Amino acid sequence: MDDNVQMHGSRYDIAALKARLGGIRIEDNPALVRQKSRDFFWYSPVLKRQLEDVTADIVVSPTSEGEVIQVLAAAFALGIPVTPRGTGTGNYGQAMPLSGGIVLDLSGFNKVREIKAGSYVAEPGAILARIDDETRAHSRQELRLHPSTYNTASIGGFIAGGSGGVGSIKWGGLRDTGNIIRLKVVTMEANPQVLELRGDDLAKVAHAYGTNGIITEVEMPLGPSYTWVDVLVGFDDLRTASEYANAVGEQDGLAIKELAVVGAPVPHDYFLRHRKFLPRDKHLVVIMAADFAVDSLLAFTRRFKGSELLMRSDQLTLDEAKGLPPGFELGWNHTTLRALRVDPSITYLQVLYPFPNQIETIDRINRHFGDEVPCHLEFVRFDGKVTAFGLPLVRFTSEERLEEIMRIHEDMGAPIFNPHRYTLEEGGMKQTDIIQLAFKQQADPNGLLNPGKMIAWEDPAYDYRSGKTFMFRSLADSGA
Ligand code: FAD
Repeated sequence: MDDNVQMHGSRYDIAALKARLGGIRIEDNPALVRQKSRDFFWYSPVLKRQLEDVTADIVVSPTSEGEVIQVLAAAFALGIPVTPRGTGTGNYGQAMPLSGGIVLDLSGFNKVREIKAGSYVAEPGAILARIDDETRAHSRQELRLHPSTYNTASIGGFIAGGSGGVGSIKWGGLRDTGNIIRLKVVTMEANPQVLELRGDDLAKVAHAYGTNGIITEVEMPLGPSYTWVDVLVGFDDLRTASEYANAVGEQDGLAIKELAVVGAPVPHDYFLRHRKFLPRDKHLVVIMAADFAVDSLLAFTRRFKGSELLMRSDQLTLDEAKGLPPGFELGWNHTTLRALRVDPSITYLQVLYPFPNQIETIDRINRHFGDEVPCHLEFVRFDGKVTAFGLPLVRFTSEERLEEIMRIHEDMGAPIFNPHRYTLEEGGMKQTDIIQLAFKQQADPNGLLNPGKMIAWEDPAYDYRSGKTFMFRSLADSGA
């Protein structure tokens, strides 16, 4: 690709592209293209500054694997980059086309193809809640894992851009062994190939931000479907709330699906629809429990001094229940969203509090930062061990302070998965993923899929220990 790319005015032959697309739906109205070129990148003040002007030249919306192949072949022939998009709920700019070109909108390629005992097969644009509706109605089975964007996110976007969420307390992370069964992927070549990945090969494209193939079919596991009850428990003391949540997570017999801790005063100040249940000084534990498990959960809860049942959704009057979002929409990145709606200056972090010292580490970090970094924990099961992942809020003052807060977390033993970076490496393990890089060399030899997101491809000599932020040349040239 030309090194002197511009952010505005197309440098690609879009007219020739259109001529090769036949009847496939396209959109080139600049306002609508800009809308489909964005995701929830604005969660981060850093990404907001860097990515504000990013836009594609055209949105192309295939509705079948054949159409995906046709678009990729045309784009390859013309050297036009392609950035896949499910429904654009990612929050690190994953689905934003840094070099312009095509946004490949997969939201209309969205059927559930097959439901079996223990698994389903779907097209990539299927919305998680729609899949769940179908599997429940078909055979009382439900998604084991979903992001808190259950109602809006696509399964292809979740696999390529997400990491876990509701259900992770029982099933672990999305990329843990067994949580994805099979994927079909189309390569970006003169004659795109359709590859089927299973077992260890799934790591090639899971959480690769669509940089090395377009997912056109997924097979995912299902669990038994239950009626879920939201249970809100309050504590005066944040450490006790964390200890309680950790202990609830360790009760293997309790059927629960979500387990979060949110420190005061966040629940009262930002969970506006639930506010009537939430005293300002109470630290909150949010639990999704199966209806038959609630009695056992509450009996267990009473063993914890100072615990107070604030709400259980199965005992609300119609009036009390009116307008309440589901409990999981208080967790994961919905906690951040609710805070941002009230106070736009808020941002957040992604932190791991490693087993077995999670409670001690959480406590020390909470005491260190106090209300500058309000506590938000999501309890998860990693390799059979219950521990906590955090999405603490940050009362943002400057980018320098944000960097310092992250450094202090790492110094205190809590690794950061930086949500203020758009590259795979800086948002993750800060090192090259050799498997994903090798697959990109095979599946996208000209580097046309979602350019700028994989540092190992763009700048193989990049030094992750330099302390600098990687800047993709398209953005650097635009002056971001
Ligand atoms: P998009 O944002 O459209 O795409 C995500 C990435 O996948 C992009 O890099 C895109 O290029 C790529 N992609 C999309 N479709 C394909 C395809 N078919 N083939 C190849 N690549 C593709 N994430 C979690 O993991 N857990 C959570 O609990 C969670 N909660 C959230 C809450 C809120 C309020 C918000 C804003 C975000 C949250 N996220 C969470 C992030 C995001 O919702 C998830 O990653 C979601 O699953 C993305 O789905 P999507 O369809 O919107 O994907």
